Amino acid sequence: MLTRTNTKNKDELSILGFGCMRFPTKNGTVDEDASIALIRECIHKGINYFDTAYFYNGGKSESILGKALSGGYRANVKVATKLPPFMVSKLQGAQKIFSTQLSRLQTEYIDYYLLHMLSDINELERMKSLGVIDWLEELKKQGIIKNLGFSFHGSKMDFEQLITAYPWDFCQIQYNYLDVNNQAGISGLQLAYSLGIPVIVMEPLRGGRLADRLPKEVLHKFHSYDKDSTPVEWALKWVWNHPQVTVVLSGMSNEEQLEENTQIACDMIPNSLSDKELEVFDRVMDIMHEKTKIPCTSCGYCMPCPFGVNIPGCFSVYNDKYLLREKRNKIIYIRTLGGLSKQAAYASICTECGKCEKHCPQKIEIRRELKRVKKEMENPFLNTSMKIIRRFMRISN
Ligand code: SF4
Ligand code: SF4
Repeated sequence: MLTRTNTKNKDELSILGFGCMRFPTKNGTVDEDASIALIRECIHKGINYFDTAYFYNGGKSESILGKALSGGYRANVKVATKLPPFMVSKLQGAQKIFSTQLSRLQTEYIDYYLLHMLSDINELERMKSLGVIDWLEELKKQGIIKNLGFSFHGSKMDFEQLITAYPWDFCQIQYNYLDVNNQAGISGLQLAYSLGIPVIVMEPLRGGRLADRLPKEVLHKFHSYDKDSTPVEWALKWVWNHPQVTVVLSGMSNEEQLEENTQIACDMIPNSLSDKELEVFDRVMDIMHEKTKIPCTSCGYCMPCPFGVNIPGCFSVYNDKYLLREKRNKIIYIRTLGGLSKQAAYASICTECGKCEKHCPQKIEIRRELKRVKKEMENPFLNTSMKIIRRFMRISN
């Protein structure tokens, strides 16, 4: 297993990290024994970065990882887990969550601690005003948290504000060949790198859709270059080719996936893709764009919307519904567009002021398309129900 150096603290991290949200299942529930065996097999294969979160698998993810690492494994790996800011309404709530996490993980310290899905600067300010950031800094001083970062799914602009608003030790972004200009995107990746902030990449396969839902024209393009390479291989290699990426997380569910991913990780040094391979990706991206319903390139020229609509984000989630036959599109819509933060960025927020349209090089009728997105992705009770969910989550701790 190759490693890359965390430039901030000199940790040697395996380039393949284990995302603990898609454990093996049996009869519809997580198979604990198989999951523990898989985690230990990962360690034997050289993986030393394990990423979980407070609410993955309803809390079971942290507990299973804790059990798997007991018995001598813990000291040899880095554990990353996350505090969900959207569940925190007071400092004591965050402290209770953290104490539960230490107990579930059977550990006295967390190597990489993230604010989960930090949506925008307002949410960071809210965490500061509650005293959460000061408390996390104190935990860092005591060595109970080694590195403090955040994970992100929002807009390019929000990422730029967040990454420069605090001296983060690392960050975690969604990045793959479909998301070059989506969410944090390549510009966010480069910005983090230029600031010396290590980047952990999640969703390199877009939740598996780049493995098994690709249009046949894309498969043909990959096969015509090399009939033996799989879509997974293409997608992972593309991410690892970036020198700015430290670890790529993959949510592996069985030994076959682990075997495939570790094989691919064997020789992926940065900038190792040939010009011809990069040309294949250019063509693949062209095909994907040709097949999208709304021809948005996520250039961001229409942004910022004065009312807070994440225009390219709305279009990207909508396009995925058709391009990748994304079944969880409504959940992803809420997650990507800040549904769990104070100020969501949904299509329905559009007031039809028209300011954005004159900036769009693709001449997209943004107002009309946002109405289409709203109709298909939002139900009439979305805003009200999300308000109730947010209130419930924050009251519950
Ligand atoms: S038309 Fe809608 S999306 Fe465009 S700038 Fe105005 S409010 Fe924002
Ligand atoms: S300007 Fe047009 S193409 Fe660019 S992000 Fe906005 S809608 Fe998409």
